[in-house]
Amino acid sequence: MTGLIPAHLDHRRSWEEFIYCYPVVSRRSKGVSLGVNLNPDKVCNFDCVYCEVDRTKPGRRRDIDLDLLESELSDLLDLTLDGSLFTFPPFDSTRLEQRRLNDIAFSGDGEPTTAKEFPEAVERVAHLKWQRGLEDVKLVLITDSSRLQAREVVQGLDTLMANNGEIWAKLDAGTEAYYKEINRTSIPFDRIVENIEITARLRPLTIQSLFLSWKGQGPSKAEVAAYCDILRLIQGMGGQLQGLQLYTVARPTPEPEARPLRAAELDALADQVRESLPTVPIEVFYGPEENSW
Ligand code: SF4
Repeated sequence: MTGLIPAHLDHRRSWEEFIYCYPVVSRRSKGVSLGVNLNPDKVCNFDCVYCEVDRTKPGRRRDIDLDLLESELSDLLDLTLDGSLFTFPPFDSTRLEQRRLNDIAFSGDGEPTTAKEFPEAVERVAHLKWQRGLEDVKLVLITDSSRLQAREVVQGLDTLMANNGEIWAKLDAGTEAYYKEINRTSIPFDRIVENIEITARLRPLTIQSLFLSWKGQGPSKAEVAAYCDILRLIQGMGGQLQGLQLYTVARPTPEPEARPLRAAELDALADQVRESLPTVPIEVFYGPEENSW
C-alpha cells in the first residue's frame, strides 16, 4: 500500500535496507531532504510525548559505521541527483517543484548530538557535498538543544556552519513544568534555554517548536507567553533567531493522547507569538485535516 501514500506524508526512517540514511520529501524543506540517522539504536535523551519513533521494536544496530553511512549517503545523492529516486514509490508522486535536493539533515531516531561520531559524521557529509559541488545544498542539524555546548558538538557545529549549515533547535515549552510534561527528560530546562541562548549569540538559530493537544488540552496562553518571554530575552541578549517553525503533530504516534492542534488553535498561538516577537520570521505547519485519524 506504500505507493498510495503521498510522498510528503511518508517519513519512513529507512530507504530499502539502509541503516543510516533515508530520503524524505519534507513539508519544511519544500524538496527532498536526505536524512542522516546517527541513532539507529533508537536511544534518545528526551522522551517526547509526540515522538513518532516506535521504541517497542528494537533498533537495527547500535554502532555507527561511518564508511557505511558515507556510502549510503553517496548512493542516495546519486539517486536524487539523476532523478531515479522519483521513479520509486512513494517518490513518484512528488510534485515537480519538489523534485530538488534541498538539504542533508542530521535527524533520526534519537538526538544526533549524543553520538560520539557526530563531529566526524558532519565532516564526512560536508566533504561529500563539496566533492559533488553541492554548495547550495544545506546541511541541517535537527536537535533537541540538550548538547549544544558540549565541546565535540561545538566542533561539529563549526563544520556544519562552514558548509551552508543551519541549526534547528527544539524549544517546546516556556516553563520547566510543561517541558517536563511534554519532553519527559531529566535534563534541566534551564540548560536547554542556556544552550539556545549561548549558541544563538554565536550563530544564527532556527527555533523549532511543536505544540499539541496533550491529554485533551493545548498549551495555555500563559505557557505560550512564558515561551515568548524566553525567546525575547534571548533576542535581547544578542541571540540571532533567524526563524521560528511552529508545528503540531502530523501523524499518529505511539501515545494516543498526543493529538494535533486544530488549524484555528495553531493560528491563534502563532498570532500570540508574532505579537510578542515581531522581528522573527514565523512559519506555521498545520496538522492533518480534522478527523482524518
Ligand atoms: S527529541 Fe526527537 S527523537 Fe527524541 S524523543 Fe523527542 S521527538 Fe523523539
